[in-house]
Amino acid sequence: MGILIVDDEQFTLKLIAHQLANLGYGDVIACERVDDAIAMLVDGHSDISLILCDLQMPEKDGIEFVRYLGRTRYPGRLALLSGEDERTLQAAEKLAKGHQLDIVGVLHKPVTPEQLRQVLNGNVRGTAQSSRGTGVSYAVEDLRRAITAGELVNYYQPQVAFASSAVTGVETLVRWQHPVDGLVGPDQFITLAEENGLIGGLTRTVVSAALRQVCLWQDAGLDLQVAINVSMDDLADLDFADFITHEIDTFGIAPQRVVLEITESRVMSDPLTALDSLTRLRLKHIVLSIDDFGTGYSSLAQLRDLPFDELKIDRGFIHQSSRNKSLTAIVAANLNMARQLGMRTVAEGVQDQADWDFLQASGCDTAQGYFIAPPMPARALPDWVANWEARGRRLAEPTP
Ligand code: C2E
Ligand code: CA
Ligand code: CA
Repeated sequence: MGILIVDDEQFTLKLIAHQLANLGYGDVIACERVDDAIAMLVDGHSDISLILCDLQMPEKDGIEFVRYLGRTRYPGRLALLSGEDERTLQAAEKLAKGHQLDIVGVLHKPVTPEQLRQVLNGNVRGTAQSSRGTGVSYAVEDLRRAITAGELVNYYQPQVAFASSAVTGVETLVRWQHPVDGLVGPDQFITLAEENGLIGGLTRTVVSAALRQVCLWQDAGLDLQVAINVSMDDLADLDFADFITHEIDTFGIAPQRVVLEITESRVMSDPLTALDSLTRLRLKHIVLSIDDFGTGYSSLAQLRDLPFDELKIDRGFIHQSSRNKSLTAIVAANLNMARQLGMRTVAEGVQDQADWDFLQASGCDTAQGYFIAPPMPARALPDWVANWEARGRRLAEPTP
């Protein structure tokens, strides 16, 4: 495995090369300038499978090199080095990921042997996984047919209370059981539906199936709140609120147990109609949740203008929030604001014990994420709830 180091500081180059040699990696090329590194790569050194690159360099800098690597679709791994602060490194990492590069580490200078070992271990994990999407795109007609043919299925992801660890409800997440491709995630067809006038039908299918399911669970003694994702386009339809109320009545579910999660993924085409729908839903005591809060258009102006009961902090702010100063501040500000507005808070994307501990201690109300459970088919839920009890009891005990 060839390793390329790019850094204008001779000292760093020598130090890292030496540390790599100690770890058993002798095949190392060191360059002081980005142009030299590029020349090296152009010269057919395609056996380079790891690049360690400094960000701050006098001529071409690390960011320009990252751009070059992205443009030439460098297939190997990349680690960034810098003496800059945490936030600069994070921004650079984001950028590299945006260029579809395989980032295996972001290292603070001076680099320690331990840090290098971690990067190299990441490197040993194998070359199979890639962040590049599969990029299947579907035809509108296929989706239209799928909706009417009943190929959409709801998965449900549990939500639990941080304080008691009790299961409070589920979020409905739609999937397409595709006859050829298998289970397809919503990111691959929701926008298609929105852009082609299919979202109204899609949402109604999802809502009816979810409410029917909650009714079945209710009959089996499982009382759950159900959250359903609603598109802004749904709210622009004046019949939508009536449809929801009608379905809730039909299935005999208390409106307080139905949560509509609303994200604004693009500019609201008809803000007045959306306000009309939301206000009517609110009057019926249906719970309104602002989803993906802090991203895109889901922001403060929304909170000011629309009658939300619940704030769902986007998963991009939750994972690692205890370790990352910016995230800690953002989460604290959101929780504080929600408290002052009398809103409930949900943390989505709780992925590990550290996320759980931090948000529990911060006073967030509800947890959702892989740490608790992934989205699952309806039939798997009762068993999961039964198994959760013991684990949940342990989690609810405050950490010593
Ligand atoms: P969302 O509303 O933000 O839903 C949460 C997404 O995060 C889900 O992805 C879920 O599987 C994923 N997730 C859950 N826990 C974790 C975690 O711990 N870590 C990480 N990284 N991710 C986690 P999914 O199911 O692929 O849904 C993607 C998006 O598609 C949803 O994002 C929602 O905006 C949209 N969507 C899903 N179902 C519907 C629907 O019925 N109607 C509409 N309009 N949109 C939907
Ligand atoms: Ca959601
Ligand atoms: Ca979200």
